[in-house]
Amino acid sequence: MNTVPEWAWEFHGHRCPFMPLGYRLAKRAMQELNVEHEKDHGLFVIPELGVGHPQTCLMDGMQIATGATYGKSLMEKTFWGKLAAVFYHPEKGAVRLALKADFLDEFGKLEFFSYRLKGVEPSQIPADVTNKAIAWTDAQPDDKIFKIEKLPNYQFKRVKGSFNKVKCVKCGEYVFERYVRMVNGQPHCIPDSGY
Ligand SMILES: [Zn+2]
Ligand SMILES: [Zn+2]
Repeated sequence: MNTVPEWAWEFHGHRCPFMPLGYRLAKRAMQELNVEHEKDHGLFVIPELGVGHPQTCLMDGMQIATGATYGKSLMEKTFWGKLAAVFYHPEKGAVRLALKADFLDEFGKLEFFSYRLKGVEPSQIPADVTNKAIAWTDAQPDDKIFKIEKLPNYQFKRVKGSFNKVKCVKCGEYVFERYVRMVNGQPHCIPDSGY
C-alpha cells in the first residue's frame, strides 16, 4: 500500500480521497516504467484532465509521488476532461493509467460526494466522512481502479529549452526569447505587444 507522506497533506491543504488516489496511480505507473522519484527532468506526466470539473486533486498526488512537478515543467495537461494520465520517460517508455468507469460509479456513491455536490469544500466536510472515503478507496485493489496500458509508440515533443532572454522595450522586464514579440522591429513582452 502506498500511503502518502504526512507532508503531502500539508502541501495539498485539505484531506480528500483524490490526492492519495493520484499518488497511488502515479506510484503504480512508476512501477510499470521502473523509474524512481524524478530528481531532474527525465519523467513527464501528461494528465488528461481539464479545468472546471472535480477530481483535479489527483494531479497533486501525481506530482508528490513522481517529482514530475508543474514547476519543473514536467506536467502538462491535455485538457481532455478525462481521469487518466500518461507517464513518459524517454529511456523507459510510456504507460497510460485511467480510472475505470465502474470504479468511479461506486466511488461517486460515497457520502463524501453528497457534500461535494452541495458545494461543501473538502476542509468543511466532517473528518469521519472524509476518512471513510479515503479508507474505502485504499481498500480497493489496483485492478478494480486502474486501466493500465503500455504505449510503445507514444510520441511526446518537448519544447527545446533556452536560457536566452531579452528586455521588453516597453516595460523593461526580461522575456525568454520564444515569448518575445517584435513590434516595429523592437522586442516586446506579450502583454505589451498588443497581440
Ligand atoms: Zn483534494
Ligand atoms: Zn513588456
